[in-house]
Amino acid sequence: MRIAGKVLGEVLNLVSAAAKPGVTTKELDEYAYELIVKEHKMVPSFLHYDGFPATFCISLDDEVVHGIPSKKRILREGMLLKLDGGVGYGGYQTDAARTVAIGEVSAEKRRLMDVTKECFFEGMKVLKNGTRLGTLGAAIQAHAEKNGFSVVRELTGHGIGTDVHEDPDVPNYGKEGHGLRVCTNMVIAVEPMLNLGRREIWQKNDGWTIVTRDGSPSAHYENTVVITDDGVEILTL
Ligand code: MG
Repeated sequence: MRIAGKVLGEVLNLVSAAAKPGVTTKELDEYAYELIVKEHKMVPSFLHYDGFPATFCISLDDEVVHGIPSKKRILREGMLLKLDGGVGYGGYQTDAARTVAIGEVSAEKRRLMDVTKECFFEGMKVLKNGTRLGTLGAAIQAHAEKNGFSVVRELTGHGIGTDVHEDPDVPNYGKEGHGLRVCTNMVIAVEPMLNLGRREIWQKNDGWTIVTRDGSPSAHYENTVVITDDGVEILTL
């Protein structure tokens, strides 16, 4: 998972750098496939997962997660782009996501993006052997809400190993001191999803894309992490 995670982090950096006005989300997806499969000879964890048709989930603006890359989706200045993908190696999977600003974005979108990433690292401050998942969720939720953003509830982080999605659910909200306890050597994906407006979401008719109900922009930031005795090791930076 360390080996796969390092590749995933690099691929996310390269694909993020290629995201410019005029580029389609399909082109970004093809680039991710080329890097993972052809260059690194590894497995794109999301491709064909539950029938998903692409290497990366690529979502724009009010799309929260699970967007399907398309030739018709052309990046424009001011958009928020979300890249979410996985890399498998030796039968084990990794999962990570980034939000990327396309050109100049509005100040509120920039803040949404920054605070979402901060929420992940606020979570990491409390995560170690023995931490309860409610304590992790509460740390993420508090930072989001203090900044005026809402936390998506229906989608959560998750355990990860030979399968991309394993138990337990890892919510981005919760009550300090409640929930399951994590322990050393557990591997989980922590992935705050924050909306600029209300927290409610729905699924589009394509059976995949999740959007905000109020049409407000959404941001996502995720890494696969190993719990250690005194903290975490982040595998997908
Ligand atoms: Mg995930």
